[in-house]
Amino acid sequence: MSRKFFVGGNWKLNGTKKIADELLGNLIKGPLDPNVEVLIGVPYVYLDYVKEKAPCNIYVAAQNCFKTEKGAFTGEISPSMLKDIGIDWVILGHSERRQIFHETDTLIAEKINYALESGLSVVACIGETLEEREAGQTEAVVAKQIKAIKDKICNWENVVVAYEPVWAIGTGKTASPQQAQEVHKILRKWLADEVNETVSKTTRIIYGGSVTASNCKELAKESDIDGFLVGGASLKPEFVDIVNAKK
Ligand code: PEP
Repeated sequence: MSRKFFVGGNWKLNGTKKIADELLGNLIKGPLDPNVEVLIGVPYVYLDYVKEKAPCNIYVAAQNCFKTEKGAFTGEISPSMLKDIGIDWVILGHSERRQIFHETDTLIAEKINYALESGLSVVACIGETLEEREAGQTEAVVAKQIKAIKDKICNWENVVVAYEPVWAIGTGKTASPQQAQEVHKILRKWLADEVNETVSKTTRIIYGGSVTASNCKELAKESDIDGFLVGGASLKPEFVDIVNAKK
């Protein structure tokens, strides 16, 4: 079963309308490999603006959303609000949400479930810290994070799993293709054992952590790496080269 390559760019807390125009311009100029699904994670306030301008081959995603439709949750945004402005994707569980905003495995899993139930597709991020890796806990940590998700959701069709070792995010220290492949393989086996064979074979598991134009091709050769989630380099013209890593 083949899995379509998937490359997401997470703009994080960056950009202005002018920068959004430039980044979209780069993507429109491309050319982008038509065999790749491309997503950009845009700050809330620019979602509507970017969605209006983005061609339909580029998914526009929010970088977060809450687990409830409406209510007294100051500062939060719901999946139905995203749907209302034509947004079909959300990135949830990013390590910056986990670490800076103290989001737990349980809260993230609840958000993922609610987003899916509301009709959004989700890029669900997991990954270990350097301390956890050095303590030999990588497998246990990612298994715990993905189990929390599995315990809340019943359909994996609209989920892309992003394995993002925290020590590789924004640090310039990319996981080697072997290090990344090892964890992707563990996750795929976990899905086969704990969910089912079909989900294991069809779910995209993408890698994130200092992916650049110069390391993406080697990473993309690994059999269980189905794409990338890109932070810093998604704000640069080289994002097009990363989308085209398989070419
Ligand atoms: C990210 O934030 O998801 C990420 C992978 O960032 P960077 O590519 O900058 O390491």
